[in-house]
Amino acid sequence: TQQWSSSPSRKSRNRQRPNVKDHEGSAEHDGIKEGIEGCIGNTPLIKIKSLSEATGCEILAKAEFLNGAGNSPKDRVALSIIQMAEADGLLTPHSGDTVYEGTVGSTGISLAAICRARGYKAHICMPDDMAIEKSDLLLKLGAEVERVRPAPIVDQKQFVNLARSRALEHTADPNKRGSGLFADQFETEANWKAHYAGTGPEIYDQTDGNLDAFVSGAGTGGTISGVALFLKEKLPGLKVVLADPPGSGLYNRVKFGVMFNTKEKEGTRRRHQVDTIVEGIGINRVTQNFEVGRELIDDAVKVTDDQAIKMARWLVEHDGIFCGSSSAVNCVAATTLAKQLGPGHRIVTLLCDSGARHLSKFWANKEVGGSEDDVSLESVLQP
Ligand code: PMP
Repeated sequence: TQQWSSSPSRKSRNRQRPNVKDHEGSAEHDGIKEGIEGCIGNTPLIKIKSLSEATGCEILAKAEFLNGAGNSPKDRVALSIIQMAEADGLLTPHSGDTVYEGTVGSTGISLAAICRARGYKAHICMPDDMAIEKSDLLLKLGAEVERVRPAPIVDQKQFVNLARSRALEHTADPNKRGSGLFADQFETEANWKAHYAGTGPEIYDQTDGNLDAFVSGAGTGGTISGVALFLKEKLPGLKVVLADPPGSGLYNRVKFGVMFNTKEKEGTRRRHQVDTIVEGIGINRVTQNFEVGRELIDDAVKVTDDQAIKMARWLVEHDGIFCGSSSAVNCVAATTLAKQLGPGHRIVTLLCDSGARHLSKFWANKEVGGSEDDVSLESVLQP
């Protein structure tokens, strides 16, 4: 009470002229977030009512599109990469240093937003067949964007290789300040560790450790590995299932231990590129981030473009959820698994990003946005 009785003069002073310093450290406590970085993580776990009712399982989805910087799970990864680089002295906040990355979009958008907030530049290399709104958004966020023809990973002009060589050029140029960081989301441990430290524990807490399966697609593999590594330590009986789009080699890697079936000739387009309307998941090489959790993946479900398209429509029609293509693939795989496991199980998956990021491509498909007819769940589950 003594404290309170001696404080009115300070309180009234603050009321006249708020002193920001007085409030430092109390922001989180007051429900105020410290910039966009403070809005990353702690995403809600949503029960998808229509899919739960239809299957008799509880199908829960982590609403990763509600991450508050770049609106995808990549916010966690981008922040983790930048924080680890700062801790290692590779980046200095507000130095104007450049962060380089090869990305199909989401990681670039998260990096670009966080770079703005922390005083860095972002240089993003991406394939030119991704939805145009992603590169538009990157430009508006102030990133430098190089859109390149999709190419095999062995090609120097492939988007990840290009980003790596741009970072090296930066370091070699005496006129450029700072080190120039190659973010390297496919290989860096900062990626899976962000999900091991965030997404995994959040799912465990939000379900009180009461879940039977976790379902996720993989691009870099950071999400599925990080979450599986955390959850399987706590729940050894948990089933971890990969959701894989057409043309990706990961399904074969999980099911049969090989990336390619012998009929696929080396050097063909299929061997290097994922042939699907889905963006962000599916890949034809084993990255470090996939490898670190690979042995924890129990099964894989192949999802066709047609199934993803129908699921996206189903989720809008029944739940008002307007999601992107990888989220739709996750939901098809989660529902397929629910049918396999039978009623009474609890399955967790991810809603990665919003349909707004896919308007010109995935959602421009006539099958997705065009028809008035209701989609049946049977047709969604029919490969
Ligand atoms: N969904 C979207 C929209 C993505 O951009 C990505 C990452 N490329 C993923 C899912 C897959 O996540 P991860 O890289 O952790 O495997």
